[in-house]
Amino acid sequence: VPAAVPEPVRRAAAGRPIPAVLGADLAVPVRGGRLVPYANLDYAASAPCLEPVSAAVAAALPAYSSVHRGAGYASQLTTARYEQARHTVRAFVGARPGDAVVFTRNTTDAVNLLARALPEGTTVVVFDTEHHASLLPWAGAVRLAPPAFPGEAVRAADEALAGVDGPKLLVVTAASNVTGELWPIAALAHIAHRHGARILVDAAQLVPHRRLNLTALDLDYVAFSGHKLYAPFGTGVLVGRPDWLARAEPYLKGGGAVRSVGAGDGGGAEWHADPEARHEAGTPNVLGAVALAAACDALSATGWTALVREEERLLARLRTGLAGIEGVHELALWGPDHPRVGIVSFVVEGLTAREVAEALSDEYGVGVRDGKFCAHPFVRHLLGGVKDGGCADTAVSAVRASIGIGTTDEHVDRLVRALEEIVSRRG
Ligand code: PLP
Repeated sequence: VPAAVPEPVRRAAAGRPIPAVLGADLAVPVRGGRLVPYANLDYAASAPCLEPVSAAVAAALPAYSSVHRGAGYASQLTTARYEQARHTVRAFVGARPGDAVVFTRNTTDAVNLLARALPEGTTVVVFDTEHHASLLPWAGAVRLAPPAFPGEAVRAADEALAGVDGPKLLVVTAASNVTGELWPIAALAHIAHRHGARILVDAAQLVPHRRLNLTALDLDYVAFSGHKLYAPFGTGVLVGRPDWLARAEPYLKGGGAVRSVGAGDGGGAEWHADPEARHEAGTPNVLGAVALAAACDALSATGWTALVREEERLLARLRTGLAGIEGVHELALWGPDHPRVGIVSFVVEGLTAREVAEALSDEYGVGVRDGKFCAHPFVRHLLGGVKDGGCADTAVSAVRASIGIGTTDEHVDRLVRALEEIVSRRG
């Protein structure tokens, strides 16, 4: 394993440095007990924290106090920081004035919140390609098969929504957590609205890689997680139209969500009409919100042009390397040329995904993910099309390498060289 090659500070077009990630100097043990620099290629699961995020949390830690309820100075400061974080997230996704920005635990929590807020009798239409977080919260959803090309996704949504009475919701990912492929969300929003439906976009894998503008794309709701956006675990958001949320009974009931509570047997609760207060019962994760907002600020300040350019350069290097190894097959729903974010899943003929991932970690200090990535129907569909090289497990699992800020040429090259060696040993 080569020693870490110091990278020059990478600079955005405007001259601003791309922020550094924490843990870039992490060393991990490999077989034989040696320590090698960690090559983290698992950003799609959880991205490392950015340094400005860590600094924002450190600055907020010494003076935090109760939020929304205290009169003391520290309480006022904490409340201001929390609401400022909401404002930052609102701007980051280009929300409309009046859209709700509800802080949640993660994307899963955000999608479940909307699922509980649907008006009675809502028909939900969802593709089988979704992450389980967006696939499972809906009772009796109409499930659409993986479309063969982007236009077919639009046509399938069109057909599924046509003739359905009552409220309707189309649920779709913006960027696949399995293949990284970008979905035609603007066209899908257009079709949904033509049928009087709303659209929820799972942006968990998009926002770390691309600018999202909810207003320009005419999306009704977006959900994403802080821990994939270079902030720590524990914070996500649901952003979107306030009316369904303002009417729905909170599924998380408690202090903060309620305006007044009666006493005795018949004592009911009068819930806040404001959807943010109504659905954020209990003491919120203020530091998580501060961290998430700091990540949004850091990415916006760096500029998407520079971030995307650097990611595309690394992604091309990775994909070219993988394509040159015999028996390694990249997974794609819409073909190798369809635009994608920095996520590549692949199988290796004759080896299980677990064997490959373990060898990468144990021998080379490379961290990837293996399995079905919480998208069982989609991965099964993709692997149905890959020739099985004689190993049953390739039929159900894949290896995923994903990149982001902090990924270097050396990480990518080490993965490719390691795979070449693993494949050549297989014989
Ligand atoms: N949606 C997509 C596309 C994802 O990739 C993930 C996480 O892998 C989720 C939803 C769920 O995110 P979380 O585990 O933060 O709730």
